[in-house]
Amino acid sequence: MTSQDTMTTREQTLRAAVRELCAEWDYEPRCDAWGGDADPEFSRELGRRGLLALTWPKDLGGAAESNLSRLAVTEELLRAGAPVSYHWAGERQIGPTLIRHGSRTLQDEFCPRLARAEISFALGMSEPDAGSDLAAVRTTATRTDEGWVINGRKVWTSGAHFADYLYVLARTSTDGDRHAGLSEFVVDTSAPGVHVQPIIGMDGGHHFNEVVFDDVHVPHRWLIGTEGHGWQQVISQLAFERGGPERFLSMYPVLGAVLDAEVFDDTDRAALRVLTAQLTVLRSLARDIAAALDAGRSPVAEAATSKYLGNRLELATLDFVRPLLGRCDERVRALFDAAVIASPKSGLRGGAAPVMLSIVTKEMQ
Ligand SMILES: Cc1cc2nc3c(=O)[nH]c(=O)nc-3n(C[C@H](O)[C@H](O)[C@H](O)COP(=O)(O)OP(=O)(O)OC[C@H]3O[C@@H](n4cnc5c(N)ncnc54)[C@H](O)[C@@H]3O)c2cc1C
Repeated sequence: MTSQDTMTTREQTLRAAVRELCAEWDYEPRCDAWGGDADPEFSRELGRRGLLALTWPKDLGGAAESNLSRLAVTEELLRAGAPVSYHWAGERQIGPTLIRHGSRTLQDEFCPRLARAEISFALGMSEPDAGSDLAAVRTTATRTDEGWVINGRKVWTSGAHFADYLYVLARTSTDGDRHAGLSEFVVDTSAPGVHVQPIIGMDGGHHFNEVVFDDVHVPHRWLIGTEGHGWQQVISQLAFERGGPERFLSMYPVLGAVLDAEVFDDTDRAALRVLTAQLTVLRSLARDIAAALDAGRSPVAEAATSKYLGNRLELATLDFVRPLLGRCDERVRALFDAAVIASPKSGLRGGAAPVMLSIVTKEMQ
């Protein structure tokens, strides 16, 4: 049975809609486009065509559809190497987090604008001494009569230079278990005391930032969920972050370009069959994860598995393409060069590869 057979008519309609928009849009397909430059107009056009926030309730700007519908859209966007970074974090995990844990006020304030890609969010989790070990977060949020005051520093904050808002994981208590003292907040990037400083990558691109919070005031209503429940809430958010097809399709545009070039001999075709089988397994896992999210579960172990194996597949994709480059044109070589520079990111962002193995092991016990 092919994946086409298991696909619903609705999924096929959504895939066709994404392909139509990508064919119309003037952009250069690229690998790792969800971590690349932002094109707010592309994201807004997706919103206008009803291709964002599919799973959210209708009264929050969504379409009350399944995560399988959303998977159809995200797979097609990644396959096309489309410029999706403006809406990616907000649509993938901030909206769903607000819907799961946020107050109705917070949902009404942000979800409809996220669904239309009117605003963009960046993720303020990692710090200089807190990456894989997020419970080591030291940024503090202190309660006042008017709200909260945030102080501290985040690093590797992708897209903070174009984001309107930040999701921030902060410490609201130092008493007892370090997991118990964490809470989640929304912060306006233009608020006094928020300093966004670029960290330039080895390719010369501006993707990362350091964000410093210097007595930043946040209203009470921008606390996400319950004070002190940040750890449990962020764990369920990470299932959204790690379980999507971007963990195994970020390098697909270069593979697709090589497939179009039709430069294979029999040995290459045998290697391609192995790669295709691995990709099929990961697509099947992505469908299981989407179904688990639809059932209201947090598929933590499945998402970590997808991220770990997806990283392996992406590196294997580059190994497959490398010897074929001599038979390909300049466009494929340019895609490949950019993909190689982007490739070390996959094993780290969203959690280091060995940490994914450790999560799977703990979850299975
Ligand atoms: C492209 C990219 C984009 C990112 N975007 C964001 C963002 O938008 N927002 C954000 O908050 N963060 C972001 N990050 C940061 C990312 O989440 C962290 O880099 C990641 O969680 C790892 O943390 P670290 O860099 O502190 O490395 P560490 O946690 O210090 O890990 C370093 C190495 O130590 C090893 N290691 C650590 N812990 C263990 C363990 N328990 N078991 C075995 N080995 C271990 C791993 O091999 C790892 O490679 C981004 C990172 C990248 C690469």
